[in-house]
Amino acid sequence: MAETFESVAPATGEVLATFPRSTAADVDRAVQAAKAAFEEWRLVPAPERGNVLFRFAELLRAHKDELADLMTREMGKVKAEAGGDVQEAIDMSYYMGGEGRRLFGQTTPSELRDKFMMSVRMPIGVVGAITPWNFPIAIPSWKLAPALVCGNAVVLKPAEDTPLLAQRFVELLAEAGIPDGVVNVVHGFGEEAGDALVRHPDVPVISFTGSRETGIAVTKAAADRLKHVHLELGGKNAIIVMDDADVDLAVEGIVWSAFGTTGQRCTAASRVIVHEAVYGELQSKLVAAAERLRLGPGWEDETDVGPLINRAALEKVHSYTEIGKNEGAKLLTGGEPYANGGGLYYRPTVFADAEPDMRIAQEEIFGPTTALIPVAGFDEAVAAANAVRFGLSSSIYTRDVNRAFRAMRDLQTGITYVNAGTTGAEVHLPFGGTKETGNGHREAGQAALDVFTEWKSVYVDYSGKLQRAQIDNAERPAPR
Ligand code: NAD
Repeated sequence: MAETFESVAPATGEVLATFPRSTAADVDRAVQAAKAAFEEWRLVPAPERGNVLFRFAELLRAHKDELADLMTREMGKVKAEAGGDVQEAIDMSYYMGGEGRRLFGQTTPSELRDKFMMSVRMPIGVVGAITPWNFPIAIPSWKLAPALVCGNAVVLKPAEDTPLLAQRFVELLAEAGIPDGVVNVVHGFGEEAGDALVRHPDVPVISFTGSRETGIAVTKAAADRLKHVHLELGGKNAIIVMDDADVDLAVEGIVWSAFGTTGQRCTAASRVIVHEAVYGELQSKLVAAAERLRLGPGWEDETDVGPLINRAALEKVHSYTEIGKNEGAKLLTGGEPYANGGGLYYRPTVFADAEPDMRIAQEEIFGPTTALIPVAGFDEAVAAANAVRFGLSSSIYTRDVNRAFRAMRDLQTGITYVNAGTTGAEVHLPFGGTKETGNGHREAGQAALDVFTEWKSVYVDYSGKLQRAQIDNAERPAPR
């Protein structure tokens, strides 16, 4: 009898479903199915592949409420955010559906007569997509929509905490008309199914979103076969609040960025770097706002903050409260679990007087905890913001346009917001981070196509004779 695992609701502990725990043999079967299906799918005209994504977007729209409701139960985020998660997949599917009629390459003149040159994007083969639980519909779409429109086949290994949503995702793709075998799902654990997918010799591309530590393990496992590895990893994102900021607007942005999705976003603001002139005002307003947030199950209309994903997450978040206190930061509010019907709730937590090098200001906590760091001016604020290993998102609140532009230039992150929090990416710009948040690739927008295609340069000589580049034209006069 095959082993199984359970999907458990973080708000109640209820078992929602049981899934097979895929082994390396299951992964191999999925990869072989994908490999066979790729040979036909790569030849389907890209606009037709795009049409399947349009149909998928329509189906996601039709099932948006059902998926959002399931997300409040399986993953725990609140209703409005769950709707946003599904909407992101809808937007991504429409956007990448449109790519079916673009997938632009280049043409450029040859240095020789009667010769034509162009570059075209080629699909690569079977893509291994490994996803986390925090955006259980959006993140699979960020990977599958571009992979599929480019003509690849996919094996998806979703997070073990959200298998039900992943299952609904691939069912709707099948309903949209994805041929059998082009998209396959393997459920189960990272060290088993995930690792087997990363090491499989017939999977040349791995697109991975998850923690920095797993990203390093994935990179090492993929290195023996020189696979293409695309990594979207963690963040330690900062909001800078300058002395000329609209403090009320900044507080709203901090609350949304630090406590939205219970702080379980790669772009969550877990540091707030505050000019000393507004430090006192910001502290009191932020604490009041954090204490007004209502904790509860995501499906209840009045809930602002849902549960953490599982018990290990709750313990990790609480351990950082102890770390922060021991490091000498001042706990202003929160710092403890909140009992409510067996749910894994943690009170929104704000530390003050953190130093940039403290662990609570350096390490990804992935929960509703943020640390205030006081600074005396702009340069110190930017230096503090940059003093972490991650480089995903950043933000500055200021009414000085010169400072805003300097921040855009100097903050070492893949995404910078001006007068908004650290979250809120849209699907048609590149998404990803600098430094140890990734390895230089980007998700979303046109940039995503580079992950899922190889460039081929094509030269067509219609002169009817041997023409040698760099040699036969060497006698021509050099440009003046
Ligand atoms: P995780 O690294 O624990 O797991 C991510 C996925 O990797 C899961 O599907 C898991 O089963 C799989 N996995 C685990 N070990 C593996 C291995 N050895 N080989 C192959 N696969 C393996 O991360 P998580 O807890 O699910 O997600 C939270 C993390 O994801 C945070 O660090 C967060 O910042 C990051 N994240 C990043 C982005 C981004 O776009 N930059 C977006 C969302 C989340």
